[in-house]
Amino acid sequence: MFEKILIANRGEIALRVIRACQEMGIKSVAVHSTADADAMHVRMADESVCIGPASSTDSYLSKAAIISACEITGAQAVHPGYGFLSENAAFAQALEDHGITFIGPKAEHIRIMGDKITAKITAKDLGIPVVPGSDGGVADYETAIGVAAGIGFPVIIKATAGGGGRGMKVARNAEELEIAFRTARSESKAAFGNDEVYIEKYLQKPRHIEIQVFGDGKGRAVHLGERDCSLQRRHQKVFEEAPGPCITPEMRAKIGKTCADAVAKINYIGAGTIEFLYENGEFFFIEMNTRLQVEHPVTEAIFGVDLVREQIRVAAGMEMSLVQEELEINGHAIEVRINAERLPDFAPRPGKVKVFHAPGGLGVRMDSALYGGYSIPPYYDSLIGKLIVHGRDRPEALARLKRALGELIIDGVETTVPLFDMLLAEPDIQNGDYGIHWLEKWLEATFGQ
Ligand code: ADP
Repeated sequence: MFEKILIANRGEIALRVIRACQEMGIKSVAVHSTADADAMHVRMADESVCIGPASSTDSYLSKAAIISACEITGAQAVHPGYGFLSENAAFAQALEDHGITFIGPKAEHIRIMGDKITAKITAKDLGIPVVPGSDGGVADYETAIGVAAGIGFPVIIKATAGGGGRGMKVARNAEELEIAFRTARSESKAAFGNDEVYIEKYLQKPRHIEIQVFGDGKGRAVHLGERDCSLQRRHQKVFEEAPGPCITPEMRAKIGKTCADAVAKINYIGAGTIEFLYENGEFFFIEMNTRLQVEHPVTEAIFGVDLVREQIRVAAGMEMSLVQEELEINGHAIEVRINAERLPDFAPRPGKVKVFHAPGGLGVRMDSALYGGYSIPPYYDSLIGKLIVHGRDRPEALARLKRALGELIIDGVETTVPLFDMLLAEPDIQNGDYGIHWLEKWLEATFGQ
């Protein structure tokens, strides 16, 4: 087992990894920018290294600075968390070249799943159902119109290099397609330096269902069911739950096995998530994330497993302790993402937190790096905490979420907490009756935007 792990991240996810290290008797090293000198992850780790200025390009995204920090501290492995360098194949490779273990999949697996067209082709080859669409990149409008004629309108144009919901355009007819094709390409060029796009059938009322998989790197893999992350604003998840309200045990077993078999076939190591759109009983692959997800705690809650501990174990060459037949779902879990943002326009509102009081009690988990007196810096993501509740069933989880939100105090900054109080009062949320467009429609109807 490793003696020392460096965490190449900040905020709640850095704490999440430090906690796992502490329980495993492993020393932790925090890295931080000058803007994060007072951050909680720096205080909680055994050691810390300043790796650069506030701008993440020069700190949390600086491969050289992070590798130097490993060398200075003698860290044998790096946990990348999510975001930043977590899906950067070159970083995983550079660590390996320096004899440092990347706690995540092999660089080649990050690479094949990083580019969306290659990911889709790989998924299809591995027997995973995909959204009907073009066989790879579409170079000109004539080809685009041919593909659209084949699959039928509406279609969605997506950037091969896309991410975070950028570079996607929907077209309902030929005229819209011409404009959408051109704008998707130029937006993609500007955002990702690559103008390749592809075309998919646009599903009208799907849900976002993702399957958690975990591989041992030696041909064995398991699945840990699904998470329903349909409540999204601008393709960003805000509320996630497991199990999915519309997924039956038979459907879960079938799609779960397909996913686990697929990753086993490529000797995938560690945690991964295969994302699908789900409509009328059918699953359609959209992408795979080769890392730990923000919403992993809902899966941990219902299966009673520690995914970070498991990631560290397999990275260190130990046997994977997860066994499919032993993985049983217990109850229901919900996570809400708390952002330092103003409602209703979600404008970031960093600032000084005067008072922070986390809720507690049975079935409540608060993952946050806040503390009273902490100043949230303006340079990074506005996620300041995740509240996760676990109950025996969905109604109990919902009641517990309401109670826990009532206990939570974050004074001094505006947050998205009031949004969840409102959502919990909605019959559709109580009934689990929502798709990927529900939240945006509700926001428009409620706030007129
Ligand atoms: P990104 O990597 O940019 O987040 P994804 O491919 O994961 O892009 O898609 C993000 C979101 O966009 C999905 O969760 C869904 O809401 C929407 N979306 C993507 N593809 C389709 C499609 N074919 N039909 C309908 N909605 C889609």
